[in-house]
Amino acid sequence: MEKFKAYHGLPGKESHGYSGLIQVSGGPFRSENDFINATREAGSTEVEDLQDSKSTGVSRGRKFISPEGKWQDAAHTYLHPRPQGGRHPNIHVLVESQVLKVIFDGGRACAVETVKAKKLVVLSCGTLTTPSILERSGVGNLKVLKQAGISASPIADLTPNETTDEIHSGQADIPALLASKAGYFSYLSRHITGPDLDDSLEFKTGYLTNKHDLDLKAQVWAYKVQRDTARRMAINQGELPYRNPVFPSGSNASYAMDAVGDNAPSSASKPKKNIEYLAEDDAIIEEWIRKTLTTCWHGIGTCKMAPREQLGVVDNSLGVYGVTGLKIADLSIVPENVCSNTMSTALAIGEKAADIFIRELGLA
Ligand SMILES: Cc1cc2nc3c(=O)[nH]c(=O)nc-3n(C[C@H](O)[C@H](O)[C@H](O)COP(=O)(O)OP(=O)(O)OC[C@H]3O[C@@H](n4cnc5c(N)ncnc54)[C@H](O)[C@@H]3O)c2cc1C
Repeated sequence: MEKFKAYHGLPGKESHGYSGLIQVSGGPFRSENDFINATREAGSTEVEDLQDSKSTGVSRGRKFISPEGKWQDAAHTYLHPRPQGGRHPNIHVLVESQVLKVIFDGGRACAVETVKAKKLVVLSCGTLTTPSILERSGVGNLKVLKQAGISASPIADLTPNETTDEIHSGQADIPALLASKAGYFSYLSRHITGPDLDDSLEFKTGYLTNKHDLDLKAQVWAYKVQRDTARRMAINQGELPYRNPVFPSGSNASYAMDAVGDNAPSSASKPKKNIEYLAEDDAIIEEWIRKTLTTCWHGIGTCKMAPREQLGVVDNSLGVYGVTGLKIADLSIVPENVCSNTMSTALAIGEKAADIFIRELGLA
């Protein structure tokens, strides 16, 4: 964290860094007071720093945005300034190029398509793409590779279900997961169906497949909390019907639905109580979630770091099992849910990966 973060929150917090390149601040916008007040009225507690991995409640989000409002991302912060400054002539960036697969020479990664690698190939194409490149290169589950028509002899046979789909395929111990407070939303599995970039990918989000409906219940809970919070905000002008389930008219749950436009609650008549839902309302919410739930942007763990017999794809030096000279450095290696948004983890992986590669290549 110290390496990549320049944190603009309270000083002296060991869970944050203060001397890195990436600025983390509240940005110049201050629309959050209304929201924080509403969550407090709905029963939540404001904490100073929700990102310290210990606190529970609601806090003022510090984001990857500088105090002046400039978006902070890895490419603009780490990469772009280097070739521009002329100080790093060894950096070559190929734009508008996509990697199809890694080329091997006797089990050693030696190139990606047209680019030869003298020492190491590092895949960093993200949770959804890195495993596809591995599979197109002949590294993966033999059954999947065969079905996808990967004709060359497969380079390495990794264990079936080598992703976090261990959860939705029923292998994970759900009570243990809950006890560890790890989230349980990253269920995806992603496999290729053919050898080319244009071949469609088999993509299972695994959402709403938990046999105890834990994920569905969590979504119902989240809907209710968000709604009770939004109804208390001063800027609330009533609810948009198309963003909500249709409840029977006259039920408590449909009350706020009527309060649109001229009927919107003024701040003086803000609700004092949370909505009380009946069992039939819950059933309607569940049905609506099943119909409208979409995937989000924080996928992890499609090539997780773990011992091979525990469905791992990379070892603790980021090396891919079964081959040499091939490393992965992105969120696909994360073995368990990180209980937060994922960019901090991606940046930390990048920093740690750089340390590992520098050490292994003798560049320190
Ligand atoms: C809309 C959106 C908003 C988000 N907001 C937040 C947020 O507020 N906070 C937060 O913490 N996280 C946020 N995230 C999540 C966060 O951005 C990701 O978790 C993180 O960027 C993942 O990092 P990564 O390095 O693993 O992969 P990526 O950032 O996806 O990097 C992969 C790179 O590989 C390239 N690539 C892919 N395929 C190929 C190929 N075949 N050949 C060559 N290059 C390829 C891609 O173009 C990309 O540049 C957001 C994500 C999205 C999509």
